[in-house]
Amino acid sequence: ATSVMWFRRDLRLGDHPALHQAIAAGPDGVVPLFVLDDTLWTPRATTRVAYLSRLLAQLSDRIGGLHVVHGDPVAEVTRVARAAGATSVHVSADYAPYGARRDAAVEQALAEHGIALVRTGSPYAVAPGRVTKPDGTGFRVFTPWYRRWAEHGWRAPADRVDDAPWLRPTGRTHRIDEAPVPDGLTLPPLGEEAALERWHAFMDDDLPDYDTARDLPGPDRTSRMSVHLKWGSIHPRTMLADLATLSLSGADAYTRELGFREFYADVLHQRPDSAFGYYDHTFEAMTYDHPGDDLEAWKTGQTGIPIVDAGMRQLRAEGWMHNRVRMIVASFLVKDLHLEWQHGARHFLDLLADADLASNQHGWQWVAGSGTDASPYFRVFNPMTQGKKFDPDGRYVRRWVPELADVPAKHVHTPWEMAEPPAGYPAPIVDHAEERAESLRRYDAIRAGR
Ligand code: FAD
Repeated sequence: ATSVMWFRRDLRLGDHPALHQAIAAGPDGVVPLFVLDDTLWTPRATTRVAYLSRLLAQLSDRIGGLHVVHGDPVAEVTRVARAAGATSVHVSADYAPYGARRDAAVEQALAEHGIALVRTGSPYAVAPGRVTKPDGTGFRVFTPWYRRWAEHGWRAPADRVDDAPWLRPTGRTHRIDEAPVPDGLTLPPLGEEAALERWHAFMDDDLPDYDTARDLPGPDRTSRMSVHLKWGSIHPRTMLADLATLSLSGADAYTRELGFREFYADVLHQRPDSAFGYYDHTFEAMTYDHPGDDLEAWKTGQTGIPIVDAGMRQLRAEGWMHNRVRMIVASFLVKDLHLEWQHGARHFLDLLADADLASNQHGWQWVAGSGTDASPYFRVFNPMTQGKKFDPDGRYVRRWVPELADVPAKHVHTPWEMAEPPAGYPAPIVDHAEERAESLRRYDAIRAGR
């Protein structure tokens, strides 16, 4: 018997329950497959596609040939499985709205040929939909959800599959073209080895005081594991198993952050419409501005607000932005520029290497006030105060905004207050106090049902 291992967001060999199932079901060989799906594989130069193309090439080298096909997964998976004479196709379950629909369609098409689609595991330690209230309904608030999630526990990591004697070369492995990298971007390290190396270095160096250091973009001491989690170069279960052996407040804080990732996946599973629509429908009635030059200034890091520009330039250069700064730039887009969060979320999805529909859309909705446990809308981030608090010496701003490299710490978040502001750096495109008041007026209007 042969089987097909259809890889998606699980591009690794270690701790991979679906791969174990594929090997057990395919003693005569396993065809390792990846489908470049037109819905996700855009011709635009996005960080996602640039990163994924290189990650696939690396996995293909590692296992001696990944079977890569381009096209509609329903037709392609069925065709490859039939050509290989496979009796089953193995996947890690996908719970995101598009992936779940796609898998249901593939399952049906395979069934017509007597081939089973077998889902084993998922990109999460606890699959979305499994943590519920006693009455079986889903949670809308993080803290009680987290308590149940932590009680739920997770299986021990599966053994590693190191060599690939299971691989059945099909002779049809396609060369994977490296997709173009967006201008100015340096891609982060990629692959399973890089993920494990980074994880161990982070545990040794930065986990012990993660709970206090995580909010400061200047020292830059968070784990940067998000991109590896996004593509499944590592499974969170592997990380949770390590964390459980440590009694450190940093380990507890980190476990909670992994919990947020799983919570948002659960929420998106409960409410697939919240991927691009408002989780809290009240906000549909809000008045928003049309995007124009302001959106461009935000995207290019030319708003004249130093912490916002630093974040947007880091995003473009690294395909990543520090979490605190993601919140600040998102708040600026929604509450200072009065644009709908979806405009910012789309830009993030294009430029983040860790772009994840659940974490991104719900991170944005949290900031916009329309998400789960949303920060109340009237609590408007002041980007200057945030800058002074979380980047007190201006190290982060100076790293990304060279025009401000020589500005003293006192003025680095408010250069326009200097007698001679630095040449070449724009004046603020908005007055924060005025826009804050405007945001609150618009909010009062929807609350009053006007
Ligand atoms: P660490 O601080 O080291 O955290 C460890 C891990 O916990 C992360 O890798 C991530 O998997 C998880 N995590 C941490 N914070 C969050 C959070 N708030 N929500 C969900 N998971 C979290 N994260 C993404 O992975 N992809 C996204 O597309 C994404 N978009 C975001 C958009 C906005 C507007 C905001 C406010 C947050 C977004 N986040 C997103 C969450 C968070 O900013 C990143 O996960 C984090 O910055 C990644 O860096 P790290 O791995 O060094 O984080």
